[in-house]
Amino acid sequence: MTTSVPVIESATVHHERQVMEHSAQNYAPLPVVLASGEGAWVTDVEGRRYLDLLAGYSALNFGHANPRLLAAAHAQLDRLTLTSRAFGNDRLGPFCAELAALLGKDMVLPMNTGAEAVESGLKVARKWGYEVKGVPEGRARIVVAAEGFHGRTISVVSFSTDPEARGGFGPFTPGFDVVPYGDADALRAALTPDTVAVLIEPIQGEAGVIVPPPGYLAAVRAACTEADVLFVADEVQAGLGRTGHVLATRAEGVDADVYLLGKALGGGVLPVSAVVADREVLGVLRPGQHGSTFGGNPLACAVGREVVRILAEGSLLEHTRGLGAVLHARLRTLPGLTAVRGRGLWAGVDVDPAIGTGREVSERLAAAGVLTKDTHGPTLRLAPPLVITEPDLHLALDTLESVLRPR
Ligand SMILES: *Cc1c(COP(=O)(O)O)cnc(C)c1O
Repeated sequence: MTTSVPVIESATVHHERQVMEHSAQNYAPLPVVLASGEGAWVTDVEGRRYLDLLAGYSALNFGHANPRLLAAAHAQLDRLTLTSRAFGNDRLGPFCAELAALLGKDMVLPMNTGAEAVESGLKVARKWGYEVKGVPEGRARIVVAAEGFHGRTISVVSFSTDPEARGGFGPFTPGFDVVPYGDADALRAALTPDTVAVLIEPIQGEAGVIVPPPGYLAAVRAACTEADVLFVADEVQAGLGRTGHVLATRAEGVDADVYLLGKALGGGVLPVSAVVADREVLGVLRPGQHGSTFGGNPLACAVGREVVRILAEGSLLEHTRGLGAVLHARLRTLPGLTAVRGRGLWAGVDVDPAIGTGREVSERLAAAGVLTKDTHGPTLRLAPPLVITEPDLHLALDTLESVLRPR
């Protein structure tokens, strides 16, 4: 009698195979398939638990299943979820007023994804250039930084310096001038009478948590003021608590003219983004000139309002600054790293090539119960939900230390 051994496919392999066959292959995820999460912890389809040290690229700053954000979402789900902007809704006004107040600006343009906030900011800056600054029609230019990341739309990848992000997607949108990041003299030299805006990240996230040299953001501010150019700060990843401050720009005592927000603004529940600026800038938009079916929907506004409340209370920011100091002090003592950068609960670390590539180390970390992702080559990004406890942070760092041993 012959017996055949049935091949049992694990739940992880089953899910991966389905995604491989039926989902566009625009990502190369780690071999982990998640099913639930709470706070800084997630559980996969096989019941294994992990500490999440990526936090949805900072979309989950307030943790998985944050009770306050879920309560705000649940309450709104049963009342009203979408109106389009053809009508008003009773959540839009409070959300815009409270977010504007948090940032000390006049107005909010609500959108959905980060890339849309960037696109919207670029459109507003061009229009401001023509109508307020007086740049001749069709000539507006925007200065951006090399190695920056601002999303995936055609206009945004038009000024990307990452060949992967651009290859095969041309023709591109003109009107951008790229300068090296962190070099205020190069930026100043790129400003012309036709320049309407400078668009930069206050800390470059995707590039590997690159913190600019001290004084850089203040110098950008001064150069923009002098040349009558809008300083547009892309705080989609750096903002809303990640550095222990509401805005990474403000942490340096610098105020931009336009703030682009996304990721954490939706509380990890749904996509919510915004352009925030004074009336002189956002007032250039009049009915019919820009819009979004989902932008400013009541569900997004209800969750966004609770995000604003959590940030305004300040205790989570204080917790983040405290644990950020713990994170950076410990990272500096770890062998196997050739560089440690960052601010608050946000670090980019470069792994010694003798230990492995960033990808290999992130795979070893996942197998040991800690999730993060390599960004470029040897760089790992560490960005836990800000609600992580100190013991859990130490547990994650113990795990990192254990996988950084040469094998
Ligand atoms: C993630 C990110 C974006 C794009 O946001 P999406 O929601 O993915 O479109 C834009 N700017 C920065 C700095 C980001 O980190």
